[in-house]
Amino acid sequence: MRKVLSPVENIFRETLPGVVSGYEVRDQQIQMALAVERGLLHDRHVIAEAGTGTGKSYAYLIPLSFVLGDDTRIIISTATIALQEQLLDKDIPFLEDTLGVDFRAELAKGKGNYLCLLRYKEELQSRGLFPEDDLVERIKDWVDETETGDRSDLPFEPRESWGRVCADDTCPGRKCHLNNDCFFAKARRRLQRAGVIVCNHALFFTDLNLRDSSGGTASLLPEYRYLVFDEAQHIESIARRTMSTEVSNMRLQVLLNQLRKREGCHLDALNKALAINGKFFEVFSQMDNSSKYLFPQNYEVTDLGQGLKRAVKDTVRMFDVDAVGERENAIFKCLERFNQDLGEILEAADPEKVYWVEKSEHRRRKLITLHASPLNVSENLDRLLFYNGELSSAILTSATLSVNGDFSFFRQNVGCSRALETSVGSPFSYEDQCLLYLPQGLPDPRTPGFHTNVSPFIEEILNQTDGRAFVLFTSYRGMNEVWEQLEHRLPWQLLRQGELPKNKLIETFKADIHSVLFATASYWEGVDVPGEALSCVILVKLPFAVPDDPLTEAKIKSIERSGRNAFYNYSLPQAVLRLRQGFGRLIRTKQDRGIVAILDPRVKTSNYGRHFLNNLPPGREITNLDDVRCFLQREQNKE
Ligand code: SF4
Repeated sequence: MRKVLSPVENIFRETLPGVVSGYEVRDQQIQMALAVERGLLHDRHVIAEAGTGTGKSYAYLIPLSFVLGDDTRIIISTATIALQEQLLDKDIPFLEDTLGVDFRAELAKGKGNYLCLLRYKEELQSRGLFPEDDLVERIKDWVDETETGDRSDLPFEPRESWGRVCADDTCPGRKCHLNNDCFFAKARRRLQRAGVIVCNHALFFTDLNLRDSSGGTASLLPEYRYLVFDEAQHIESIARRTMSTEVSNMRLQVLLNQLRKREGCHLDALNKALAINGKFFEVFSQMDNSSKYLFPQNYEVTDLGQGLKRAVKDTVRMFDVDAVGERENAIFKCLERFNQDLGEILEAADPEKVYWVEKSEHRRRKLITLHASPLNVSENLDRLLFYNGELSSAILTSATLSVNGDFSFFRQNVGCSRALETSVGSPFSYEDQCLLYLPQGLPDPRTPGFHTNVSPFIEEILNQTDGRAFVLFTSYRGMNEVWEQLEHRLPWQLLRQGELPKNKLIETFKADIHSVLFATASYWEGVDVPGEALSCVILVKLPFAVPDDPLTEAKIKSIERSGRNAFYNYSLPQAVLRLRQGFGRLIRTKQDRGIVAILDPRVKTSNYGRHFLNNLPPGREITNLDDVRCFLQREQNKE
């Protein structure tokens, strides 16, 4: 007797192969889709790990098409623009055409993407807008024509000038007299009509925070019943970032500059506040050479910080009350929040938070940010999201969520403890498509000079693969040391992270088949280079998090305080997931072939090394460099 298929399985096994020529039925995809269908039927959350090539987006979109209704909204939150574009430009239109479903999909963007008519007009009046005159004219023309007011529709790059005219936290919302014509308000009204809203994780968590801090009276996104976190491996870090309190040297400057030209502003008070702001942050810029360090609680910092709070208050107090309107009040509220946030960081009193300083550059200007970050976000996510009584079902999916087939580490970090779980492998045949090369005689990565000593191994491998490789490091220092050793010894184009923007670097890498890219953390995942240009991935060191990063340090201490082993409960699973992500760069399609080399001998010599190897896809392990050449030659001959 023929098995009766569920409606979802029927689409994968009957409908799609019937209407799409060459459609390939993938059992792993169906397995994931059935788990999602089960979750939706029983109002359960689902954690679904699915290997590269599974076709995750159809595996959740098709089951979700059955729950979509006039009053049922779905949010799909992703980490990357590439995935948002794939969903909105490819996957959703394809399913709409093929299945006759109307997802009514819209992309949600944060405020800062839209032109604020009020700020724009103020800037024009003060003639401070854009130093180059032709830009003034060009944006004027654009404002008259644009229907969206969306920065991405601008025919030119406005650079830092955009920050002076985009919608921001000083927006008084409906109280603004331009609200009817406001681009951001119109975009939000469009979202009200959408069945599926695609957004990024940062916007999603900003909305969640806003709902919480306003007691549910304010939000950026409309109500929703179903939620998908694709690229879910990022939700912990992005949730932590948006749940953190942050005060930077630029924040006050931006706010006070908006007050400067307003009637009734007392310039002496304002300039005094700016001067103290500069002095206060200068202390942090000189205090420590590292880019991230723990917030120092000492007399100088507290004294200057309290002085800054008083100066901000004075600036507001000196205002002529008769000159204060909606706009000024909105800016005053932002200043009040600035003082509250600064006060929280100066006190540094919550043992569940880590207080730290970050030094970076923003548009060639020194940026110093003070953070108060929650150590654990899982309780908040459970309370505000997963078990808030309103969300019917959330689907959390990615290619790398489990360690040793277990999701405990992921759940410990993001919550969602009562979710259904499924893990489906990749449809690729890793045994045939790739080799894992573990050279012998490697230097110990904990010894000085490791990167210099490992350089000849990298050179030998690249000579066998004829370039065509990613060389991935765990630190800039390591990357630069190897770069210096090999820069003039290799015949191919060598590319290095930081020399071009990431998308340009990847385009250049793809265009030159034999080029070699040296990169660190952000290239271990989310980079997709199918085809011959990426035939080799060299992972130089096991990717353990740097222990002197303040967040890592605080997490480790907190785990140890609770009596657990921080290495096995935090450092190791985190590094295993990272290694899986790095490994995953190599095989992106069924046609891809290549080598992954791990140059850290600890995968073989340490007692924890097997955790790394056991978590990689099944494949052939080799220790002889000649086998690399033979494998690649054989694969080339097949072509
Ligand atoms: S509603 Fe807000 S974003 Fe829109 S024009 Fe007014 S101030 Fe600007």
